[in-house]
Amino acid sequence: MKRGTIFDIKELGLYDGDGIRLTVFLKGCPLSCVWCQNPEGPKMPPEVFRHQSRCKGCGRCKLPCHHPDCAPFGICLHACPDHLVGLYGKVYTADELAEEINGYGDFLAYGGVTFSGGEPALQSEFLCEVARQIPFPKAMETCAAVPTEDFLPLALLMDDLFVDLKMMDEGEHIRYTGRSNRQILENIRALDAAKKPFVIRLPLIPGITDSDENQAAIADFLSEMSSLQRVELLSYNPFTPTKYALIGRAYDAPIANRPPNIRTDLFAERGIPAVALRLRGADAPHSSPSNH
Ligand code: SF4
Ligand code: SF4
Repeated sequence: MKRGTIFDIKELGLYDGDGIRLTVFLKGCPLSCVWCQNPEGPKMPPEVFRHQSRCKGCGRCKLPCHHPDCAPFGICLHACPDHLVGLYGKVYTADELAEEINGYGDFLAYGGVTFSGGEPALQSEFLCEVARQIPFPKAMETCAAVPTEDFLPLALLMDDLFVDLKMMDEGEHIRYTGRSNRQILENIRALDAAKKPFVIRLPLIPGITDSDENQAAIADFLSEMSSLQRVELLSYNPFTPTKYALIGRAYDAPIANRPPNIRTDLFAERGIPAVALRLRGADAPHSSPSNH
């Protein structure tokens, strides 16, 4: 049985598919977007967090601990009287995760489950096993930066697909996300060839992804796609990602200090339905800069 790593399960998502969603966040992502607001997402192994700003310095969590949960991390996860220490990342078997999701049965009847991340398709075999056991509507938010043989079988199991497309210029894509966009474009073409309906999400990061040129280039690329349902332009939420401090990292994304440049008209004039969305941090999907 396949095992996978999850870093969060949240109820009451509103923007990741029809109705009210249960959102399952899978750990691990092949990209490293400079604006990522879910810093606990990209690395696959579980990571320790500590609320340093509230720490009283009693030192209990640093005493030697041989508990199997704690030994690999060199810190006690259970000793803090204020529960300031914990782990991002829990390992499940496919059956365990499917059982947990299906346990929300009444809730899922009003919408469904959305797989987000991190990048869900990075754990494709595991998630295919999970998805086949879930009788409720399923959606996936994906950056699509994984091999097509991993991406497509999983995508075809979903009822709704939200695919990030951040930048068309390959050099800029490498500069700001750490990877080429070629695999992403190939996977979008593969979805279209398979006649699988999909939504494209473009996170509008001021000064990085929101130029007229980038939005026009994306619109050009999408203009021939017959399975594209719409484009969603997601506004950047300047919420400070405090989670970086929890895992001892700094956040220094070079984001312009101005509202995003929203050009739905560039899509409309190519016959592509486009909507601009401004998501609150807690509702924002993994692929949105508002939260992730
Ligand atoms: S923003 Fe999304 S795609 Fe980019 S690194 Fe973070 S999790 Fe990955
Ligand atoms: S046990 Fe809690 S309060 Fe004490 S040092 Fe560790 S994190 Fe700080």
